[in-house]
This record gives sequence, C-alpha cells and structure tokens, in this order.
Amino acid sequence: MKITGVEIIRSYPKKGKPKWRPAFVRIHTDAGIDGLGEIGLAYGTAQDAGVGQAQDFARMLLGKDPLRIEAIWDMFHRKTFWGMSGGAVCFAAMSAIDIALWDIKGKYMNQPVYQLLGGKTNEKIRGYASQIQNGWKGNGYRHIQPEEYAQAARDAIAAGFDAVKVDPIGIDPNGGWMDWNTRGILSQEQLDVAEARVAAIREVGGEGLDIIVELHALTDTNTAIQLGRRLEQYNVYYLEEPTQPLNDKLFGVIAREVKMPLAAGERIHSRWGFRPFFEERSLSIIQPDLCNCGGITEGKKICDMAHVYDIGVQLHVCGSPVSNAAALQVEAVIPNFVIHEVHEYAIEPYNIELCKYDYQPVNGYYSVPDLHGIGQELTEKAVKEAEIYINIKED
Ligand code: MG
Repeated sequence: MKITGVEIIRSYPKKGKPKWRPAFVRIHTDAGIDGLGEIGLAYGTAQDAGVGQAQDFARMLLGKDPLRIEAIWDMFHRKTFWGMSGGAVCFAAMSAIDIALWDIKGKYMNQPVYQLLGGKTNEKIRGYASQIQNGWKGNGYRHIQPEEYAQAARDAIAAGFDAVKVDPIGIDPNGGWMDWNTRGILSQEQLDVAEARVAAIREVGGEGLDIIVELHALTDTNTAIQLGRRLEQYNVYYLEEPTQPLNDKLFGVIAREVKMPLAAGERIHSRWGFRPFFEERSLSIIQPDLCNCGGITEGKKICDMAHVYDIGVQLHVCGSPVSNAAALQVEAVIPNFVIHEVHEYAIEPYNIELCKYDYQPVNGYYSVPDLHGIGQELTEKAVKEAEIYINIKED
C-alpha cells in the first residue's frame, strides 16, 4: 500500500461562529483506503499556518507506505529542519497526518485504533462539561452573575454530568473576556467575584460534583496562588493552566503553595516538551491535545511517560468531532485516564454537522466507538462547503 494523495480541508460552517474553521488532512492510498486527521492549530489564530504546514508535509508523504507510522513521524521530526524545534506549527501538521495514518491502519486491519494501541482498559469514558462560564446549552454567552454560573451547573447536571469545568475569573463584571488585568496581584473584588461564582456552582452541585477550575494561563504565578488559596475550601478537582507553560519551574512553585492538583498541557508539544513537568512532578494531570502534541503516536507515548510519574491524563479536546473521536480511542486504552473534556463546541450543531458520526456521552459517559480506524468521517457537505480545499496528488 502506498500514499497517493493528501487533501487539506479547512471547513467553514456557515451557521457557526465566524472564527470556527476546523482544518483536516485526509490521506488517500492506492488500496482505496483513506484516513482523516485534524490540525489542532486551527482552534487559535494560526489557521493559515496549520494548513500551510500540512501542505508542506503532505508532499513528503506521496509514495510512502502509510502503515509505517513511526518512520513517517520520525521523518517529519528529523528531516524537516523545524520538526526538532518542537514548535506548535510543525507539531499540529504532524499530528493531523499521524491521526490520519492511524485511521488508515485501523481500516486496513479491520480494527478500531484502540485495539492496535493495546486494547481497552476503560470500558466507559467519563466526561465533564467544559467551559460553563459560557453556559451549557449551546449558543452560550458570557456569564457574569453567580446565579448564571449556578444555572449553567444545573444545565450540565441535567444533561447527565457530575463534573464541570469553569473559568471563574476570565469574564469581568462588564462581560469582557480578560479585559481586566489578572496578572501581578488580584484585587479583593476579583477574588470575591471568582469565589462567588465557584461557590454558586458548589452550592448547586453539592459535594458530589467535581469542579475543575480553568485559568487559561492568563493568571500568573502570583495571582494563581492568590486565587488557588481562596478556592481551596471548595474542593477543586484540579486547577488548569494557572500560568503559561514556558517556564516549567513556576508550576512547582504554585504546586507547593496551593493545596490542589495542577493540570496543563494543551500548549505543550511532544515528550520533550512534557519532560520537565514530569521530572519536577509539578503537574498532577496532563492535558496533551492529540491534534497538536504529535498525534496518536506521540500522545500515547506522552501518556505512558506520565504514568511512570503517577500523573493522570485528561486529553485536551476542543476541536471538531474528529479530535473527539481520536481522543476516545486513546482514552480507552491508557490506564492513567482520568476524564474526557466535553467542550461547549462538542454540543454546537454547526460543529457536529461537519462529521458523519455524533458521539455524545449518555449520563456523563461515552461508549468507545467500534468502527474501524478512529471512527469518524467528514460529511460530503462539509467538504463541499470547505473554505480551503487543497488536493496534493502524485503527478
Ligand atoms: Mg484549557
């Protein structure tokens, strides 16, 4: 079997948010099998970079045996000059290609990817409702008052969840997103606002609700410690991205000062990127994004390295249903799986409609799809309405 073509597709759901344009690679073979992967960079302001990098790498795939996934990964890492820098752009393209190759391998072997990775450790995948500062019913808006946070928690619980994630400080009292300064030292007002929101969620959910507090790396070491200490009394499940991950040592400082587990990883790429956090054991939970960290090949290795340090895994999932499907395959296998991120985007119709299969948790838990490969396909409509469509083929 050899690779005969690579499509690069940037979707443009007409009814979605203007910035919501998930990007994909679809790899074709001379055996008539194709595979699909997602370029995670498209979540942020690097959509063109992700698509461009995938285009550069696609040309290197033509004629290659798609089953030699490790060798192809190593080729991109070693032979592209920038692969070894570990940056977001290269790794997003490598990730999408890698996921697509696993999809091909699964279809070729007539097995779901989880079987090829070692088989199921986890029958059911527990999910949490993520980013409830924007509500939990789709078409959310920025919540300001504690009662709005309470209602969002009620809605998530009514949808079957017993765990939620909230950013309690990102939205200021005027509804602005990070318009107030959350670095340096927090004011008493900021601490009070954040506490009241978390308290409202705890009140609704009782002690049985797990509350993840997300800070989006927009606090710093000082302010994350201030806020973390204020929230200790609410039994936070874990504290996500208390500061940005470029200075790994700061996570050790925060971990010593705040009595709650720390999590990070959506902005960290590769085993090499996660290494210092493992060696310092400054994170309790890692959150690699399979569509950015290096794909299923690298993501599985990162999770296995974390296991050596008794670190749990919550994959970062905030893309299209393709990223969701890929995550479920890995989460089914790894013994250190903790919980699955059900992002607010996962329940948006314009996102769901991009793909053929809609995997949603029932009573807060997913079943793992048994379709061959990753178990996801784009709809013809999504491809037809794509904003960017590039088809790279052998001459
Ligand atoms: Mg996050």
